Amino acid sequence: MSKQHQLEELLQQMTLDEKIGQLIQLATPFFKGAGNDGQITGPMEEMGISEETVRNSGSVLGAAGANQTIHIQKTHLEENRLHIPLLFMADVVHGYKTIFPVPLAVGCSWNLELAERSAEIAAKEAAVSGIHVTFAPMVDLVRDPRWGRVMESTGEDPYLNSQFSRALVRGFQGSNLKNDTLSVAACVKHFAGYGAAEGGRDYNTVNMSERQLRESYLPAYKAALDEGCEMVMTAFNTIDGVPATGNEWLMRELLRSEWGFNGVLISDWGAVKELIPHGIAENEKEAASKALRAGVDIEMMTACYDRYLKELIEEGVVEECILDEAVMRILTLKEKLGLFDNPYRGASERLEKEVIMCEEHRRQARELAEKSCVLLKNNGILPLDKEKRVAVIGPFANSDDILGPWSWLGDRKQAVTLYNGMQKNSAHLTFAQGCEIERVTKEQLKEAIRVAEQADVVVLALGEHSEMSGEAGCRADIQLPLAQLELIKEMQKIKRPIVTVLFNGRPLDLHGVMEESDAILEAWYPGTEGGAAIANLLFGMCTPSGKLTMSFPYSAGQIPVYYNAFNTGRPKDAPDAQERYVSQYLDIPNEPLLPFGFGLSYTTFRYRNGTLSEQKLKKGETISLSVEITNIGEREGDEIVQLYIRDVSGDVVRPLKELKGFKTIHLQPGETKTVSFTISEEQLRYYHRNLQFKSDNGAFIAYVGGNSQQVEGFYFELID
Ligand code: BGC
Repeated sequence: MSKQHQLEELLQQMTLDEKIGQLIQLATPFFKGAGNDGQITGPMEEMGISEETVRNSGSVLGAAGANQTIHIQKTHLEENRLHIPLLFMADVVHGYKTIFPVPLAVGCSWNLELAERSAEIAAKEAAVSGIHVTFAPMVDLVRDPRWGRVMESTGEDPYLNSQFSRALVRGFQGSNLKNDTLSVAACVKHFAGYGAAEGGRDYNTVNMSERQLRESYLPAYKAALDEGCEMVMTAFNTIDGVPATGNEWLMRELLRSEWGFNGVLISDWGAVKELIPHGIAENEKEAASKALRAGVDIEMMTACYDRYLKELIEEGVVEECILDEAVMRILTLKEKLGLFDNPYRGASERLEKEVIMCEEHRRQARELAEKSCVLLKNNGILPLDKEKRVAVIGPFANSDDILGPWSWLGDRKQAVTLYNGMQKNSAHLTFAQGCEIERVTKEQLKEAIRVAEQADVVVLALGEHSEMSGEAGCRADIQLPLAQLELIKEMQKIKRPIVTVLFNGRPLDLHGVMEESDAILEAWYPGTEGGAAIANLLFGMCTPSGKLTMSFPYSAGQIPVYYNAFNTGRPKDAPDAQERYVSQYLDIPNEPLLPFGFGLSYTTFRYRNGTLSEQKLKKGETISLSVEITNIGEREGDEIVQLYIRDVSGDVVRPLKELKGFKTIHLQPGETKTVSFTISEEQLRYYHRNLQFKSDNGAFIAYVGGNSQQVEGFYFELID
């Protein structure tokens, strides 16, 4: 009998309660074997979950190691009438115990291979601990750095995000979930448009045209599914007035019918019940009915399905076949993971000891951190001379709060702080706290001045603590906290070169930092090996190569500011622009402080002899754009070469530039390499007014360069 048949038979045997149980996800403490013998206390008790529900439930949120998951699974299999194994799910976002840089940092590496490896390692550490599904990748396109969750995304570009989306899914899932028990199923999130929350305030309304949704926001989710991603998580926000978690168009029409997604859809945490405050359901019963009918298979952490689905089905409000379909999808995922044959899958205490935080994983985390840092400014002080006396000062100088949000299982004590990392390379290192993240005392400043005065160079380690970004970590003012700006001012008085290293989860407003520093290294939250990686960069053991994947605004007043924007009818740089009546601010520039794609190196790359193979591109054929790049500096280094295209005149307004390709090359001093990009008609397609996805004949400009602003453009024409 085929597996499909077996699952169908199993479904036949299930009672209504048992079926509904598969749609319910509860946190670990609900389960017997979790070390509390099923004693449900606190908020969980308030949820009014019965023992029978726990017995019937289909999945678990969170887990704490192989021992516990094995125990819970074992107890569950004994108590569940049909012995249906539980699925264990958790947020393994940028590492499980070996913590990699946050996704925004990973984006800045432009390194798909290392990103894939990081997901593979995270999967391995999670799988040996008993986890089957990770709530990742988060691929929401982000354009507003006030939103705390930008650190979970790879940035503001649909093409780049899609590439990372695929790489991460490949890394998590491997090639075969059943045979490779050290992989996990991926759950792409948050479907859809969560990154466009109005005003950058978490959970807020999202309003945009369907065309924009399709063009900019949807591609990265679709890319994950094209890569075989098994699950999708809904978003908290509304889309066109309907919360994503109750949005039939989004889930049934688009995701299931149009895209053909057959996997499991899970609500975000509590999002089913949130249909009530959103105002599309009057009560939990209506919320349950709307969510299931709209397409949500699993309800995460609220009890609307548990309380009301049975009633709704018995009353005929919800058809049982909809429930059956949802159950089948969940059973199918369990089968794909091999859980019916091996309910413990990769969970193993022995393997936990062997693989978690092993040297190889730490090495990979270090390498990715090195590639993720972005050098924002350098007047020549970097790399540091090892013979110089260096004072490391600031709230992040010796802080282990460098793992970043969503590193819930990471062990901060195992993190290499900046001071620890630098100590290995310098015999002349001193330290002062300087200030706290948001407070400073006179004594702290005095001590910092004393230490700085005895040094040749000051490394200021500044930033946001990890609670200042991530979920619900939104800020309206995205400057560094005042205490730290004050510290910089004091340090300037000492007249020593200042190298600022930033630890943060979003592009910041760098007023009070940019001018005041001689060099700035954006380290984001670099993860377990952060301090070691940064030290390697600061002392020149390796050369920075990261490039920003999210623009740094000139000030918060510009937000949203992103490179792939539309022109206006009155651009500032038009030949006939009038002095005043152009699209501009009176008080600040239009351009971001640092554009998408920007990042410095310790060496210099010269672009020359850009050429297009043809000026006309025929549909069905390709042309190529090549450019010679020479390392004219004195150190070897990596350069991320970027291809952008602009459609000069379309059916609707087209962005000024869109990233269409990138290549990373390594060049020795004096070395030249030619980089070529292929351009085809497929890359020129976009959504027309009628939502048809196609290209237009006519003029285009292909740009090549080292960031989205410094590029050279080449005209070509698309013809039949
Ligand atoms: C977040 C999700 C996360 C879920 C489970 C929610 O609050 O929005 O991204 O996967 O919690 O932890």
